[in-house]
Amino acid sequence: LSFSRCNLPQKLLQNIESAGYEIPTPVQMQAIPAALKGQSLLVSSETGSGKTASYLIPAISFCSNFRKEPKNPLVIVLTPTRELSIQVEQQAKILAKGLPFKTALVVGGDAMPRQIHRIQTGIEMIIGTPGRLIDLLTKHDVHLDMVSILVIDEVDCMLQKGFREQVMQIYISLSQPQVLLYSATIPSEVTKMATSLAKEKTINII
Ligand code: AMP
Repeated sequence: LSFSRCNLPQKLLQNIESAGYEIPTPVQMQAIPAALKGQSLLVSSETGSGKTASYLIPAISFCSNFRKEPKNPLVIVLTPTRELSIQVEQQAKILAKGLPFKTALVVGGDAMPRQIHRIQTGIEMIIGTPGRLIDLLTKHDVHLDMVSILVIDEVDCMLQKGFREQVMQIYISLSQPQVLLYSATIPSEVTKMATSLAKEKTINII
């Protein structure tokens, strides 16, 4: 498999090339085509495997094929830490350069009004940690009814940090999105999470 065979928008392909990604990593080879088909995934992957691009590429492709106003977010990426969210956003910016694709970073420690303002400009993807997203959701500062893809990165860390209830609280305000779960280890807790979130059985990628 090569990136050019994945039926991706031309601009996205150019950005992948400019980023220096010549061939897809093993995780990307499996996850990208399956995610582009709309399948929900449970992916076992370590940092360094190219996992971030393996969900960002299908997510950006989905968003740039989707044109509809008003622009409420179409994708949520949840991570356990502010630092990881920042890194994911940086990679999304590189991959989506020149595309009609905007992100909002929703993490604790940053001024809330600025995040709300950013969301109100009309964005495709929210990247953040669960707590702050719930704050915005509870105050009706973000509308998640158009979210079609929910990515949860480092699910195993997330569950250890006790984010389970928060993730479920976010999930119930969505309407059965495609779910892409990434985890370094797959203990039974993670499998349980996958079963409770995905509308059909997940494809497991190891
Ligand atoms: P990650 O596993 O998402 O933390 O990615 C690790 C690093 O690999 C990041 O710096 C990416 O920019 C880079 N990367 C992702 N996909 C590819 C690829 N197909 N070829 C070369 N580098 C890549």
